[in-house]
Amino acid sequence: MDAETLKRWLRACAAILHEHRDELTRLDAAIGDADHSSNMERGFATVAERLDSLGDVSPSKVLTTAGATLISTVGGASGPLWGTAFRLAGRSLGDRETFDQAQLAAALEAALNSIAELGGAAEGDKTMLDALGPATRAFRERLESGGDTAESVLAARQAAEEGMRATIPMTARKGRASYLGERSVGHQDPGATSTALIIAALERAIAEVG
Ligand code: ADP
Ligand code: MG
Repeated sequence: MDAETLKRWLRACAAILHEHRDELTRLDAAIGDADHSSNMERGFATVAERLDSLGDVSPSKVLTTAGATLISTVGGASGPLWGTAFRLAGRSLGDRETFDQAQLAAALEAALNSIAELGGAAEGDKTMLDALGPATRAFRERLESGGDTAESVLAARQAAEEGMRATIPMTARKGRASYLGERSVGHQDPGATSTALIIAALERAIAEVG
């Protein structure tokens, strides 16, 4: 995998977030302020534009540029969280021109850890971590049991979707939805939902041959 793989991922994020915009708006309207899809869609659309003028750069630079763009263009909680996640995932790739499955696993782990650290949430708090945590672990586990990249990212996407659905009965303890307390029960978390889409975008990007 190389910088092109990551550019395909980020462009696929912009596309898939656009495809699911109404669903994300509806979910954030129920337990937040209805801006999650516009935050994410605008952020990743700007990332996709920036990629066009970025030229030939390292895989690390693709992700750190995406992260900086999300931080500067997205106002809601999800902007700084995903922005920092992509920056630290990018940094974990170092200055190599190509990377393997284990380095991708480490990049996902860097993203997960940075969101947990910056947001102060734990799994079970009904946030994006409830999709990203299971996805990151499933990727690593499938890889370590001999899976190739496509199999590992398939396992990650399935775990993300399962984690996303598992937020429905949870009580929100972080972010705007936490203001609702028990009234957040019965609703799927918008951030966990967009996270499952971001992992599905990675699966698409890996399936497409450069
Ligand atoms: P805002 O809540 O500022 O309107 P968004 O609507 O863009 O921001 O994002 C809401 C999502 O952000 C939530 O569904 C949740 O998954 C995630 N989120 C909020 N606070 C945190 C946090 N402290 N840690 C991790 N994720 C969080
Ligand atoms: Mg919101």
